[in-house]
Amino acid sequence: MSNSDVTFPTFVYDEIIKLLPVAVSVYSKDFELLMWNDQYLSLSGLTQEQVYKGMSLAEKIAVENQNELPPSTFLPIVEQVKCYWQDPLHHRREDWFENGRLIETRVKRLSEDLYVFCYIDITESRLYENHLQSLSEEDPLTKTLNRRSFVQQVESLILQHKKQHEPFAVLMLDIDYFKLVNDEYGHHVGDEVLIALAQRCRMILKDNDLLGRLGGEEFCIALPNKTLTMAKEIAANILHSVNSAPIVTNDIEVSFTVSIGVTEYCALDRTFESVYQRVDKALYAAKKAGRNCFKTL
Ligand code: GH3
Ligand code: MG
Ligand code: MG
Repeated sequence: MSNSDVTFPTFVYDEIIKLLPVAVSVYSKDFELLMWNDQYLSLSGLTQEQVYKGMSLAEKIAVENQNELPPSTFLPIVEQVKCYWQDPLHHRREDWFENGRLIETRVKRLSEDLYVFCYIDITESRLYENHLQSLSEEDPLTKTLNRRSFVQQVESLILQHKKQHEPFAVLMLDIDYFKLVNDEYGHHVGDEVLIALAQRCRMILKDNDLLGRLGGEEFCIALPNKTLTMAKEIAANILHSVNSAPIVTNDIEVSFTVSIGVTEYCALDRTFESVYQRVDKALYAAKKAGRNCFKTL
């Protein structure tokens, strides 16, 4: 945008393109490179000289192969170009390059045979966004879901159940006499026990099962598409895994046990809260029955 009364000489636009923190290239419809900036050269792996020679597209690809540049640089852009040619008016997409960079490409047709490409390296900002996302969803100690995120995901399982009537089961785990572990070995060893329990659970669970730390030494597991019978089997496997070997940290062996409540989602459960209350009662029954066991409700 500019004030319509002012016309700038071409060098102003050239300087602006040079100053931009993103790679810019302008092409004819025959893919002749008409204008570019230094940022484009570093992204494409081409030298100024190579670009001046006015190489064909095929030659550019050959240069890239000859120079044994990582196939990260120019080729993917070419692929993108081909794709934009189909729909050349205005387009925007993101691609992970093989060199691990995430590039957002924006293409606009300026006139019948003039196309401007703008490539923005958004790797850092995306990694940062992902990091923030996991911080907001994860329990920092055990890397399981935090309470808020676990409950949110179970609520969506409930909605899914209402549509597709797929069963799902819930387990609640609580470490037995965990206070004694802290008292005897110290809080830091207690922390290692929490981490180890989460790891042992993960080894038993499938990718789409949800594991969350609801607080303290209490974990909850949601098992999509699993019936009560299947959930009981998983509870037995967790007990077996915890009992099979102590955890070893700083040359200290710590044996511990867990109690588990098991329940299945039923149509009367409107929210996670009612499932939670039932599974909590089942857990309490397991504690009452002497701990290191599971009970269902
Ligand atoms: P029970 O078998 O009845 O569950 O007994 P318990 O000792 O496990 O239960 P209690 O509720 O008396 O104690 C829980 C302990 O968990 C007390 C608290 O200090 C400890 N705890 C809670 N969060 C953490 C944590 O993040 N790290 C460590 N190391 N300990 C924690
Ligand atoms: Mg406990
Ligand atoms: Mg507890």
